[in-house]
Amino acid sequence: MVVKKIRSRIQMNYKIAVIPGDGIGPDIIKEAQRVLEKIGEVYGHTFEYSELLAGGAALDAEGIPLPQKTIDECKNSDSVLLGAVGGPKWDHLDGKMRPEQALLGLRSGLGLFANLRPAVLFNELKAACPLKDEIIGDDGLDIMCVRELTGGIYFGKRGTDGSKAFDTLEYSEEEVKRIAKQAFEIAMKRDKKVTSVDKANILDTSRLWRKVVEEVAKDYPEVTYEHMYVDNAAMQLVRYPKQFDVILTGNMFGDILSDEASMITGSIGMLPSASLGEGKVGMYEPIHGSAPDIAGQNIANPIATILSTAMMLRYSFSLEKEADAIENAVKSVLAKGYRTKDIVGTGEQSVGTNEMGDLIVQEIQK
Ligand code: NAD
Repeated sequence: MVVKKIRSRIQMNYKIAVIPGDGIGPDIIKEAQRVLEKIGEVYGHTFEYSELLAGGAALDAEGIPLPQKTIDECKNSDSVLLGAVGGPKWDHLDGKMRPEQALLGLRSGLGLFANLRPAVLFNELKAACPLKDEIIGDDGLDIMCVRELTGGIYFGKRGTDGSKAFDTLEYSEEEVKRIAKQAFEIAMKRDKKVTSVDKANILDTSRLWRKVVEEVAKDYPEVTYEHMYVDNAAMQLVRYPKQFDVILTGNMFGDILSDEASMITGSIGMLPSASLGEGKVGMYEPIHGSAPDIAGQNIANPIATILSTAMMLRYSFSLEKEADAIENAVKSVLAKGYRTKDIVGTGEQSVGTNEMGDLIVQEIQK
């Protein structure tokens, strides 16, 4: 009895809000949960899930894209795992009733100001990368984009007056400071290099951005950092992407550069993301959408969502070994030649969503 009590005390329990959403969301979330279950078994953790509605599923059930219950439950969880929202069924709805509003509501409701998007090219998928072999080399690519998510031009004052329209770009020192700290913290867990991207030759907000980044950098003497203009960064990403470790940037530049970085990795079905804030709850989701064209057909690639759970373990729960176990399992399944339809090449074996989940689960070990 005593032994049992001690064991239950050291076993960790994590409460995860799960939002499958629409389209392929339920297909890929199911596989990600199976992977988490296996991690729990192997490493002695328990994951407790509350399944919640958002997007089109919430519109159908409750008439709004983001029910208050969903926000409340997410706030009461240790972390949020989201599939994807949206689809043609709800495309006729406008403004605040669109399924995608759920994403904005969750980001602001949970105070998620930092978006982390790794662009990782596994060596096994080199053929899917549109860049030349000599640019990529033999060891793949691994870049982390850290994008400010709740400020900048997307949230500034805007308006249209007859034939004129305007948008406003504003950043406060505090907003820059908190995202810069995130980027340097992440760099400390990686190759210790930050490239801060701006347009300081033109924009006042960028000059403020640079000044604050330089102040934050003083607290991280082990991290080398540089500033780069956004036009140059867009070019360098395809010319010599290996120079980047962590890219730190504002909302609009990050929106564009993170898509460019993800494209050089070849497949949208492979890339996870994390949104973090000052609170304890982070949100983890694949970067792709709900892919209604392939929903429910057992062909969606679940790897982006499975890798999102690895990010959750690393960034929300500090479970480094468990996160590595998931990433290594994905790598070994790819090394054995298994591929979902979106990434299959000649001579490789095409498997469905469930089979890919099975294969990854089988590879998870201590
Ligand atoms: P999408 O990412 O859903 O699909 C683009 C293409 O990639 C499609 O051909 C799709 O079949 C394919 N694809 C996407 N994910 C895949 C996966 N895991 N495995 C294999 N193939 C995959 O983008 P879209 O078609 O522009 O948008 C569809 C819907 O998703 C829209 O309603 C859009 O608003 C919504 N959306 C949601 C999110 C989100 O929830 N975070 C993000 C983007 C788009």
